[in-house]
Amino acid sequence: FDQKDGWIWMNGSFVPWKDAKIHVLTHGLHYASAVFEGERAYNGTIFKLREHTERLFHSAEILDFKIPYTIEEIDEASNATLAKNGLVDGYLRPIAWRGSEAMGVSAQKNKINVAIAAWEWPSYFTPAERLKGIRLDWAKYRRPDPRTAPSLAKASGLYMICTISKHAAEARGYADALMLDWEGNVAESTGANVFFVKDGVIHTPLADRFLNGITRQTVIGLAKSRGLEVIERRIAPEELSTFSECWLCGTAAEVTPVSEIGEHKFTPGKISADLMQAYTDLVQGAKVLA
Ligand code: PMP
Repeated sequence: FDQKDGWIWMNGSFVPWKDAKIHVLTHGLHYASAVFEGERAYNGTIFKLREHTERLFHSAEILDFKIPYTIEEIDEASNATLAKNGLVDGYLRPIAWRGSEAMGVSAQKNKINVAIAAWEWPSYFTPAERLKGIRLDWAKYRRPDPRTAPSLAKASGLYMICTISKHAAEARGYADALMLDWEGNVAESTGANVFFVKDGVIHTPLADRFLNGITRQTVIGLAKSRGLEVIERRIAPEELSTFSECWLCGTAAEVTPVSEIGEHKFTPGKISADLMQAYTDLVQGAKVLA
């Protein structure tokens, strides 16, 4: 992936994709002092760019480092990165990390670096294929207690258990894994939020202990504007047998129906299909929400 053609915005200027390198003693690599974003552009517009950039700054603040740019500058650099790479539809990955000026847990003076990459990342499935739903395994690891880790930051270090869990699920033939929180409630998948349907009502875990996804908030808005009831609450894994539909949502996943979580089966239905379509219409700019 590091040998592609293209340009990466790095600390204020564009460098050729293949040359966007860092030193092996980078603090972010050794101690996970890094925060990032994942964004999608549709028809030349980065969806909810400002919200993503604000979250990047908020994550950095939680990790106690200050990004040496303004939110406006990062927004502008993100748009410029998309354009410089000739992309109209694509995925963007801004990342900020502590540099290699000093080694050790404490690195107060290490430079805060920022880079933004963008590449093509089309949806893997057609809407009809997506409606078959993906299969999820249960993850071995749980989302950490907010007293144990900065759970609300989109921080690189929090993805260690996600990669381990996703690899384990893939090895068993599943697409992804569903993680519980430290108390044993349903939390989210390794890179997306989760929703369920029971008797026409939507239920989703309260996002006070893991990332309150921008897609999650968008989907809740879309559902409510359609007159659907959305209940945010703690959900016990035993309840999964009472739900009829389930989907994941996130910037990369968009709205992806789920057909199975461990021993539980779901049938992607009207609500999943409607919200999948509504989300597509919204991001494509076909319909503008008031
Ligand atoms: N949870 C995790 C762990 C994620 O990595 C993501 C993707 N950023 C999400 C939820 C969904 O967030 P968003 O909708 O803002 O992309």
